[in-house]
Amino acid sequence: MRMPDKVSTYCRKCKTHRVMALKQEKGGRRSGGLNWSHRRMKARRRGHGNLGRYSKKPVAQTKMSSKASKKIDLRLTCPECGKIAVMNRPRAKKVEIFKAI
Ligand SMILES: [Zn+2]
Repeated sequence: MRMPDKVSTYCRKCKTHRVMALKQEKGGRRSGGLNWSHRRMKARRRGHGNLGRYSKKPVAQTKMSSKASKKIDLRLTCPECGKIAVMNRPRAKKVEIFKAI
């Protein structure tokens, strides 16, 4: 998918059309969520106890295949107010942002 780096669209904050800068947002990194003592206790507990339905791996895990195209995160930034708007998340295999004159 080829997209221009400048798109003229409506700004909801300014309530007018403006030429906005388009940028592709990269996926964020997942945080660990646990502090060091929790991680230590989790590691010590490994291999003990019954986890119920989580003890077995799901059947669907091996049968499921991932989709060929992924939803891309395109964001528009207003030059006047700095408001960032998310585009309607289209599906694409590859994204190319070209320089619009
Ligand atoms: Zn604006």
